[in-house]
Order: sequence, then C-alpha cells, then structure tokens
Amino acid sequence: QVEALKAKLLEQAQEIGRLRSELGGTDAEKHRDLLAAENERLRQEMKACEGELRELRRQQQAPCRDCTHLQENAELQERLSQLQREAEETRAKLAELDLEVQQKTNRLAEVELRLKDSLAERAEEEERLSRRLRDSQETIASLKSQPQQIKYIIKTVEVESAKAKQALCESQSRNQYLQEQVGMQRQVLKEMEQQLQNSQKTVAQLRAQIMMYEAELERAHGQMLEEMQAMEEEKNHAIEEAFSRAQVEMKAVHENLAGVRTNLLTLQPALRTLTQDYNSLKRQVRDFPLLLQETLRNARAEIGQAIEEVHSTNRELLRKYRRELQLRKKCHNELVRLKGNIRVFGRVRPIMKEDGEGPEAANVVTFDADDDAVLHLLHKGKQVSFELDKVFPPQASQEEVFQEVQALVTSCIDGYNVCIFAYGQTGAGKTYTMEGTAANPGINQRALQLLFSEVRGKAADWDYAISVSAAEIYNEALRYREEERLPGGASRAAGELASAGITPRCSPHPTSPALASQLVFEFGHINRATECTNLNEHSSRSHALLIVTVRGLDRSTGLRTTGKLNLVDLAGSERVGRSGAEGSRLREAQHINKSLSALGDVIYALRSRQGHVPFRNSKLTYLLQDSLSGDSKTLMMVQVSPAEKNTSETLCSLKFAERVRSVELGPVSRKAELASWPSQEQLEVTKGPLGDSPGTAAAPGRGHASPSPGQLSSRAASIRRKLQTSG
Ligand code: ADP
Ligand code: MG
Repeated sequence: QVEALKAKLLEQAQEIGRLRSELGGTDAEKHRDLLAAENERLRQEMKACEGELRELRRQQQAPCRDCTHLQENAELQERLSQLQREAEETRAKLAELDLEVQQKTNRLAEVELRLKDSLAERAEEEERLSRRLRDSQETIASLKSQPQQIKYIIKTVEVESAKAKQALCESQSRNQYLQEQVGMQRQVLKEMEQQLQNSQKTVAQLRAQIMMYEAELERAHGQMLEEMQAMEEEKNHAIEEAFSRAQVEMKAVHENLAGVRTNLLTLQPALRTLTQDYNSLKRQVRDFPLLLQETLRNARAEIGQAIEEVHSTNRELLRKYRRELQLRKKCHNELVRLKGNIRVFGRVRPIMKEDGEGPEAANVVTFDADDDAVLHLLHKGKQVSFELDKVFPPQASQEEVFQEVQALVTSCIDGYNVCIFAYGQTGAGKTYTMEGTAANPGINQRALQLLFSEVRGKAADWDYAISVSAAEIYNEALRYREEERLPGGASRAAGELASAGITPRCSPHPTSPALASQLVFEFGHINRATECTNLNEHSSRSHALLIVTVRGLDRSTGLRTTGKLNLVDLAGSERVGRSGAEGSRLREAQHINKSLSALGDVIYALRSRQGHVPFRNSKLTYLLQDSLSGDSKTLMMVQVSPAEKNTSETLCSLKFAERVRSVELGPVSRKAELASWPSQEQLEVTKGPLGDSPGTAAAPGRGHASPSPGQLSSRAASIRRKLQTSG
C-alpha cells in the first residue's frame, strides 16, 4: 500500500509538473509582455507622428495664409483629424485589451498561488505520510522481532492504514478538483489567446492605417514644402525688384540732391547781394522820416500854392462860365428865333363810332409816306395839301406825341416860358391830346411827370420849386377850378389867386416822389366848370389851362431861373352858325371868336416884331402875356377829324395852322403870307362858303388867303428890319 501510495504521489507530482508546463504560464506572460512592448512602441511612434503633425500644421499656418492650397490643406487637416480620431479609438481599444490582459494575468497569478499552496500542502502531506510510513516500517520491524507486540502493532497499522486510505481518498478528490480547475484555467487561457490574436490583428490593421496616414502626411508635407518654396521664390523676386527700384529712386534722389546743391551754390551770391540791399534799405528807412518831413514841407508849400492857383483859376472860370451861360442863352434864343419859336403840329384823330356810318363817316384825310409834315385833305373831289412842322396820323400814340413835345417841356426848367395850345373843333381830340384817358394819359400828366423826374435828377446842384395851378376861362372870365397845391402841402384860396393873376408861389421842390405823383394825378385832369349839365358842351366853350411854374437856384453859381409851362386846351374852334345863335350861345360864340382871334393877333404881332402887342384884347392872351412874349416858345397842336362830314371845319383848322406857322418861318419871299393874318372873324368870313375862299381857289396846293399889296410891303419891311437888327 505504501508503495502504491508513493507511486501515486510521484505520479501526482509529475502530473503537477506537466500541468505547470502545460499551463505555459510563463509563455502566456511572455506573449503578453511582448504585446505590451509592441503597444509601447506603437504609442511612441504615434506620439512622434503627432509631434511631426503639429510641426507641420504650425508651418502650414504661418506662410500659407493666402495660398490657393488652403482648401486642400483644410481637407487634409480634416482627414488628419479623422485619422487622429480613429487612432484615438484604436488606442482606447488597445487600452481596453491591456486591461483585460492585466486582469487575466492577475487571475493566472492567483491560480498559480493557489496551485503552489495546494502543492505545498501535498508535499507536507506526503512528508507526513512518508514519516508515518517509516515509523510504521520501524514498528513493523520491531514487531517482527517481538511477535506479540507485532500482532498488536499490525492491528494498529491496520487501523492506521484505514486512516491513510481515507486521507488518500481525500487527496484524490482534491486532485480531481485541482484537475478540474486546471481544465478551466486552460479554457480561459485558450480564450485569452484568441483575444490576443484578435487584438494582434487589430494592431496590424491600425499599423497599416497609420502607415497610410503617414504616406498621406508625407504627401501633404511635400506639397506644402513645394508651395513654400514657390512662395519663397516669389518673395525673393519681389524683394529683388523692390531693391532695384529703390536703387533707381536713390539714384534720382542723389541727382536731385546734386542739383539742389548747385542751386544752393548759385543762391549764395544772390543772398549776399540781397543782404547788402537789405542793409542799404535799412539805412534808407532810418533816414526816411527826415526825408519825409522835408518832402512833406515842400509838398505842403507846393499844394498850398497849387490850391491858391486853382482857386484863382476857379474864380476866373466861374466868371467865364457865367458869361458863357448868358451867351449860350442868347445864342439859343437867336437859334430859336431863327428856327421859329412857334411850332405847329397837326394831329388827326381816328374815325370813331360817333362819326356814324355811310359817306358822311368816310375818311378824307391822307398822309405822305415820305414826309411826316404833309397832310392831304379830299375836299369836293380835289386834294388839298397842307405842310406843317409835323403831322400825327390817327394811329400815333400819346407817347409818340409827347416825345415830340418833351424838349419843349424840359426847357422850362432852364427858365423858358412855354405855351402848348390844343386847337380845333369840338370832338377833334383836343382834350384827348392834353388830358388823355386814365389808361393813356396825355401831355399834361406826362409833362408833370417828366418835370418832377428831371428836377430830381438835377437835385445835386440845383434847388427847384415846382408849383402847379389850374384855371379856366369862360366867357372872358377867369376862374380857378382847383386850388393851387404846393408841394410843401400849403394851399391858397382860389379867389386870392384869381385876383393876383397867375403868380404861383415859390416853394421848396418836392423831394418825395409820392407827393410828386399825387400832384401829377390831381392836376393831370382838369375838371372844368360843371354849370352846364352837358360837360362836353361846356368844355367846348371854355379854355382850360394847366400852369406849371418851375423856379430853380444853382447852388454853386447862385443863378436863379424861372420857367412857366402853360398847357392850354382851347375852346372849340367851330363856327357857331351865324344865323340861329341867340342869347348865351351867341355870347359864348362871340367870346370864343374874340379870344381865338386875339390869340392869332398876338402871335402875329409878336412874330412881326410890332411895337404894340395886343395882349389885353382877350383874357387868354392877357393871362399868357409873360409866356408868349420875349424868348418864349409856343406849340400849336391843331386837332382835326378825318370824317367827311367835318371836312369844312378841318379845312378851316388846317388853314389856321398853316398861317400860324408861316408867320415865323416864312423867308422874305413868303412874307406875303405874314400880311394875310386874318382875325377869327375874318377867318369866318373868308371861310364862309368854303368854295369861295380866294386862298383855296388861287393856290390849290396850299390853302392860303391872298394878302393885300399894301399890307405886304409895310409888314415885310418891318420884319426885314427886325431880322437885321437881331441878326
Ligand atoms: P375835343 O376835346 O377836341 O372836343 P375829345 O378829346 O373830347 O375832343 O375827343 C373826342 C373823342 O374822340 C373822345 O372820345 C376821344 O377819346 C376820342 N379821340 C380823340 N382823339 C383820339 C385819338 N388820337 N385816338 C383815339 N381816340 C381819340
Ligand atoms: Mg375837349
């Protein structure tokens, strides 16, 4: 039995040894170590790769900012990061595997420890058993020697061997358990190997991937290097270019500098001369006040002398000027005398509705296209021509008429007396010419306006006073229809003026244009007496006067002037039928006749330089005495109607006009006409039945009355005498 037990023990020991070798604990450990080492190496490699990658990325970031490969780079980076992610995952898996391996190793170590324990237990047991075996063998030997004793001992051995058998049985069951354990361990090992193989495969795959990434990285790196090189080249090129340009510029600057240097060299002498000049100027400035004082003294003396001279010259000039002024006036008077200071204009009004229709309203007046002083009248189938100083056709405007008159108007500023008469039958346009309409004013308003504006224009040298008054002569009686309105605002009663005749008061000239225009408005239209219900009828039997007096003082010379402008709208010149006129009508007609004849007489006497001028024969001539005598100027505006029914009156008016004109203008040869001045009554007589007029019969071209030979010679002689004395 002992032998068997020994054998069994041995067998078990062998079994344990075999199990140990079979377990290959050391091999598995070795494999695991290997794997760990491999892992470590891979990790190192990866770290190196990452470092390189970082480096590359840094390089990439710096120079290649604006490069065209940026996109590619970005892609590469993305892939790189992807790869890194994968590598990370792999690493995590590896770590997991490591952990597992570690756990298994731990478990193996545990199993080994337990195995060792059980082996140690078994060895103890064996030793214990072998000791007991020896003891029992000794006992057996002693027993053999001592048979009784042996019997007893055998009995105990038998008992004891039963015990050993039981222990053996136990150890066998233990063995069984251990074997099971080993089997299990082997299974675990196999699984682990399997796992190891798997992880090795994964590692291989990862390595391949890493290799691929590396290749890609290499490629990207190469590309980047190439780009960097290209950029470097570009940079170098640019630098070279800039350098060469800078060199050229430097050269130019050097040249400029050289020019400036030479300029400086030339400027230095100029500066020297300038400095010298400056010094001399300084000296001069120092001396200047003295010089100036000296010069001023001299200049003052010279100026004083010059002023004295100018003063005396001025005095002399003023004296001469005054003399010249008088001379000029004399000359002007002479000129006017020679040219004729009675001017006669004719104005024909247009045909109007009032003229009616049919042959009565036919136009009988025609004009000469080339001569604006000639007018033709169709009378009884014959054309009679008249020559005046100027003829205004129906279409002539108020303005055109005034233009011809305005020189006359302004001459009263120079101190002349002026008379403008409107003559003609009632309805021929006298009032229209003198007063006009509100929209189209006549001579009165325009004359006033002109005078005021002229006076304003001369205000720098002259003081002027303008006074205006309006009067009316009806049946040889004078009445003032308007109070005299003075520019200063003062007024005088009508009666006072009437008794004083027309002696307008001197007043300061109107400085306010508003006041002037008010005056113009108020006196522009003379409202005549309205005793008669028919205003027009009344106006045709009275003379309306607007009298403007202009007084001037030349402040520099002290010269005083007084001019009077008389604007007269005469009573109608038509002949009142000798038969049928009675009472007041007859008296009116007589008065009109008388005053118009008296006007004619006065003009005649003046022009023929008669010693006696019959001013007193009518109120009108008496009133205008100042303005008709001396170097005064007269304009007769003869108004006619062009209508057929007015032919005889038109003829009379034109004859009157021509006679007035011829008084003055006629040369010696025409003096004959001077003698033919008829009185208004005579006019009527000669006009009577128009065809009977000797003038018209004798001279068809000119409606002149024939003179008596006796009158002719004496008057012509008188005129000649006058002309000689004045000449
Ligand atoms: P008188 O004063 O000679 O009697 P008016 O001046 O009263 O005549 O004129 C009579 C009419 O003829 C008025 O209605 C006037 O407006 C008109 N008249 C006169 N002359 C002209 C003219 N040149 N242009 C237009 N109308 C005129
Ligand atoms: Mg009238």
